[in-house]
Amino acid sequence: MAEHTKIPYKIYLEENEIPTAWYNLRADMKNKPAPLLNPGTLRPMTAQELQDVFCDELVAQELNDTTAYIPIPQEIQDFYKMYRPSPLVRAYCLEEKLQTPAKIYYKFEGNNTSGSHKLNSAIAQAYYAKKQGLKGVTTETGAGQWGTALSMACSYFGLDCLVYMVKVSYEQKPFRREVMRTYGATVTPSPSMTTEVGKKILAEHPGTTGSLGCAISEAVEAESTRDGYRYVLGSVLNQVLLHQTIIGLETKAALDKYKIVPDIIIGCAGGGSNLGGLISPFVGEMVRGERNYRIIAVEPASCPSFTRGVFAYDFCDTGKVCPLAKMYTLGSGFIPSANHAGGLRYHGMSPVLSQLYHDGIMEAISVEQSAVFDAAVRFARVEGILPAPESSHAIRAAIDEALKCKETGEEKTIVFGLTGTGYFDMAAYEKYNNGEMQDYIPGQEELQKGFDGIPRFPGNEF
Ligand SMILES: *Cc1c(COP(=O)(O)O)cnc(C)c1O
Repeated sequence: MAEHTKIPYKIYLEENEIPTAWYNLRADMKNKPAPLLNPGTLRPMTAQELQDVFCDELVAQELNDTTAYIPIPQEIQDFYKMYRPSPLVRAYCLEEKLQTPAKIYYKFEGNNTSGSHKLNSAIAQAYYAKKQGLKGVTTETGAGQWGTALSMACSYFGLDCLVYMVKVSYEQKPFRREVMRTYGATVTPSPSMTTEVGKKILAEHPGTTGSLGCAISEAVEAESTRDGYRYVLGSVLNQVLLHQTIIGLETKAALDKYKIVPDIIIGCAGGGSNLGGLISPFVGEMVRGERNYRIIAVEPASCPSFTRGVFAYDFCDTGKVCPLAKMYTLGSGFIPSANHAGGLRYHGMSPVLSQLYHDGIMEAISVEQSAVFDAAVRFARVEGILPAPESSHAIRAAIDEALKCKETGEEKTIVFGLTGTGYFDMAAYEKYNNGEMQDYIPGQEELQKGFDGIPRFPGNEF
């Protein structure tokens, strides 16, 4: 690429350049992520055990540590074409505003009704449920993006969709709830009296505003008490990261078109699916010894799984009905303060990303929410997109790296994941605009309470 050839504002792929297979990073990882364990026997979950909860094909993907490329079924490719490829945008205006020599790119996943990347996995999971002849699926949703994406996917394939929505979001985001109901989903605020585990949690914590961990327990119970239903999850699991690699594969294809090689790749991390999806093809090159990148996960200071959590087997849910996953965790009993990035309030983290972080292949930082909204507003005013609070964690880190380049004069290339739009987060923006936004950083004592709930057994020292 000659120096003088200007990179376009948006690098689009042609329809026939959209990837036709997902990339399974686990196949190339030297240290594989640890398997899910049955909490009763402490043995790896078998396919049969997992099939009681998840669709068969998704179980196969969950357990597949060896196949590098998994073909995307034609029906899913066709659906992807309705809103993909997503643009890779050169943030010329932001660069100009920051007066930085850094070159900033973002991969924008907000161009669909769900407003986030979550549709990439929702459509895949709904497809496999339909193919198996199921009646419907159950799930949880925090901020509502996952529930929205899944409702869209289920209505497309004619599946019933039962969503347990974290109560605080259910009350704060009535419009999200209505989008889901418009797509035909049944939405229940969690914890609820519709499940045994919900009743138990309400008895122990009356007045709780809920958490993702609670909602997962309820959704799993709702699945197990209904014939022809399976549970689906919007993040954390290997299968979800796999589907989200469409983000990274498109990003890499777009960069390759212009022979651009990023120095730094940044993403926000809730359960790790967008970040895992974005970085997989790049980390693949790293673990195969072909190239090096700096990879940065950004999480909220109020829910710091990577930066202050421990690497151990833990429950994925508050009700302790799900398998144990080895991950960076704050403990399944940890209920984060009501920060505004609902999608980043999960106590654990993807086992794949946890292993990469543990092996030093990836870095992680935490940021406070007022700094995040500062970055969100700066970005919105020059790039024309009102970002989701979750995505704005990545914006914060990208701006900080670009400002470092300004000091050193280095022309680094920074790529970050802009996972979605923030139109349903205006209550948070309102707080920020009124100067009422508060930062909350949990104390060590509070974290210790969460760690105390992590199961102890030989081999699970932390
Ligand atoms: C759910 C969500 C996230 C965080 O989830 P990951 O699984 O960590 O990607 C980030 N951004 C948006 C917009 C979301 O909806």
